[in-house]
Amino acid sequence: MQLFENLIEHPEAVRLVLENTHRLPAESVQLVEARWLALAEDLKARFDSPPFDNSAVDGYAVRSADAEAGRSFRVVDEAPAGRPAAKSVGEGEAIKIFTGGVIPEGSDAVVMVENTSGWGEEFELKKAATPAQNVRGSGEDVREGDVILRAGTEIGPPEIALAATQGYGELGVHRRPKVVVLSTGTELVEPGQRELEPGEIYDSNSFAVIAQAQEIGARARRISAASDDAQVLRNTLKEALETADVVVTSGGVSVGEKDLVKGTMLELGVEQVFWGVKFKPGKPLFFGVRDGASVFGLPGNPVSAMVCFELFVRPALVKLMGREERGRPRVQVYFEEDVRNAFGRMHAMRVSLEQTEKGWLARSVGAQGSGLVSSLTKADALALIGPESKGLRAGETVEAIVLREGVIV
Ligand code: AMP
Ligand code: MG
Repeated sequence: MQLFENLIEHPEAVRLVLENTHRLPAESVQLVEARWLALAEDLKARFDSPPFDNSAVDGYAVRSADAEAGRSFRVVDEAPAGRPAAKSVGEGEAIKIFTGGVIPEGSDAVVMVENTSGWGEEFELKKAATPAQNVRGSGEDVREGDVILRAGTEIGPPEIALAATQGYGELGVHRRPKVVVLSTGTELVEPGQRELEPGEIYDSNSFAVIAQAQEIGARARRISAASDDAQVLRNTLKEALETADVVVTSGGVSVGEKDLVKGTMLELGVEQVFWGVKFKPGKPLFFGVRDGASVFGLPGNPVSAMVCFELFVRPALVKLMGREERGRPRVQVYFEEDVRNAFGRMHAMRVSLEQTEKGWLARSVGAQGSGLVSSLTKADALALIGPESKGLRAGETVEAIVLREGVIV
């Protein structure tokens, strides 16, 4: 039997994961495929935007020098969005214009139709206009040559909008990681497939991990659960290693006789970076590398698997994707009562959060057993209660990783 030898601390484990993870190469993707990915290079404005002076309202383009209240104007042309007027604006003249229409030659202001006698061949101005009124100047959004988005920026809806305004139909991004997820355990049955026999349970980990990977924007695929049989495990893992940037297994990675995952990985040429982290829940976590692929052996207990993903796999995926971000929001939290940590290792405690006058109040979601799947559905955050302390005093603050960003925004 193999026992844990060098348990390492949580920050050291994260450091090792990141040190052994490298950004994926760049490729070009269509705008509609770009969400979640990160720009591989700075993106520059190809031209001034907006490209021409245009109207911010529906009304009349006039010369501000003429535009005194009470004066009448003759309408000589019109300038709807997309069709510039053919004529220019002379003294006492106006051109009907709509939002986005090009400001006609000769005019320098737009009066809102609401401030005139209305639409017609002629109108009377009710309110004086000032120069540049209701005109959106060319280049007021971005200037040609400006870096409008930095390399490493995660592409979200506003970034897609900005790239589109500059005519970019494709963007150079770091490739989307391919994640293969594999649950192990003879007891596992696929949900929806059949009823359970004695001793069996449904595989929940691979579905959870797929969802966690998708939430970051990775491309994740699951392979049917492998039984605790060396041959089956070897074949399944081999296939996973050949196709994936990241392989995530769950179960079979602790010190039991049926825990064959680590051994099988090593046999298949995975180089171990660490096995065992001093934290709860998820001590048996395994991390290794092989031919540029990262391999995570998550513990089987569902809470451990999901928490280990959150703490270790998530940062790796973000780095692979080339995203320069700070990661999940972290807040300082306090508890109303003393909190014990008798484990001698960091406890990532599942807590709910509530904002009070004193800051963020954390409350344990209840029992912290690592098999309690329902507990995670109640958790807003993971409070990181250090190993050095025996726990926390009421009111003392500690850092928490916010899992549900909606809670704090
Ligand atoms: P293991 O790490 O394989 O010893 O598994 C620890 C516990 O987690 C056992 O109770 C397993 O039945 C359970 N478990 C392992 N894999 C899964 C899974 N994919 N889905 C749900 N529970 C699991
Ligand atoms: Mg097992």
